[in-house]
Amino acid sequence: MEIKSLKISFSEEDRAWITDRIDECLATGQLSQGKFVMEFEEELKKYLNVKQAIAVNSGTGAIDLVMKILDVNNKDVLVPTNTFLATAVGVKFSGGNVKLVDIDPKTLSVSLKSLKERVTKNTAGVIIVHIGGIVTPEIEDIREWCDRNGLWLFEDAAHAIGSSFHGKFAGTFGIAGSFSLFATKVITSAEGGAIVTNDDELAEKIKLFRNHGKPKPWDTYHTSLGSNYRMHEITAIIALSQLRKLDKIIQERDRIANMYTEKIKQHLPELELILPEDRSNWYKYTAMLPNEIDREVVKSRLKEKNINLQGEVYGIPLHKQPIAEMLDSYKNFEVADNVCSRHICLPIYQGLTDSEINYVVEELAKVIAELKK
Ligand SMILES: *Cc1c(COP(=O)(O)O)cnc(C)c1O
Repeated sequence: MEIKSLKISFSEEDRAWITDRIDECLATGQLSQGKFVMEFEEELKKYLNVKQAIAVNSGTGAIDLVMKILDVNNKDVLVPTNTFLATAVGVKFSGGNVKLVDIDPKTLSVSLKSLKERVTKNTAGVIIVHIGGIVTPEIEDIREWCDRNGLWLFEDAAHAIGSSFHGKFAGTFGIAGSFSLFATKVITSAEGGAIVTNDDELAEKIKLFRNHGKPKPWDTYHTSLGSNYRMHEITAIIALSQLRKLDKIIQERDRIANMYTEKIKQHLPELELILPEDRSNWYKYTAMLPNEIDREVVKSRLKEKNINLQGEVYGIPLHKQPIAEMLDSYKNFEVADNVCSRHICLPIYQGLTDSEINYVVEELAKVIAELKK
């Protein structure tokens, strides 16, 4: 038995559905800005209960685009230190100053307390990342604090499509939210992304910028500056198929996650679990190793037993990356330093069997017991 950290699978039925429609596009020649992108946007809007959805070429593109529109030039933007580089680079490439923020050990998200430590008079807004698919229970308080202080809240919800808190979906709490449909995410179109917002005016600006400032997609008539962040039809077909499966996919991940939780509580109580208070899409199943245990040793011992642990969120926080100085010279991240080096993410993907889940927990328990001797 070999257990990978991640497995991407499409059912035979889904593959047939997708290839039929790709064939239709190839036959008609409608490859861009056609009905599938529109359909994907309509269904995403309905699913998330949000006024506007704009399909784009990637999660990175989504962040870049929104930062350009929000005009962060010379402003400070608060960004978690445990995120993917794209969250911070979107700010940087639009001329903003990245201010990295420490995290909450219970949710791995920024906390209100950590945001207050780094806010300045020059701060324009906050980017929150729902790490591993968990929306922090502090989300409403963070939003209110932003409102009171004239700051926007933007959600890089690349991990969290379908996650929610108190009935509201990730991506819909602040001024706008972005998603990634990259190959490793909970739903994927190979590459791709989306922006959602309840602000019609902001949505119009985003749509214009996505397609070279052209109000009519096929007319070369530019009413504003813009660039190319478009999603194409073939991507949209895959995205649409996946979006329609999202609830099923989350249900399946729920089954796996709940089984992990039950088994770990039984056999490995020294593992501290990072669990959601409300609906998570379980992009990751995250746990903290005991302080004295070296993660790299655990990973290599498990690898010998054909269990692959990979894809921490994140193993090296931005302030410890080789590019750290280009983002922010601040270095005081007590929680992130501990959490980033100490957590593991267990394999979670469609089709992971009960016996495989049992095997992972049993072997992990053995490795930890050996290392504690
Ligand atoms: C994946 C990811 C992105 C980038 O999305 P792409 O679609 O790969 O460009 C941005 N932010 C976070 C937190 C991500 O996990």
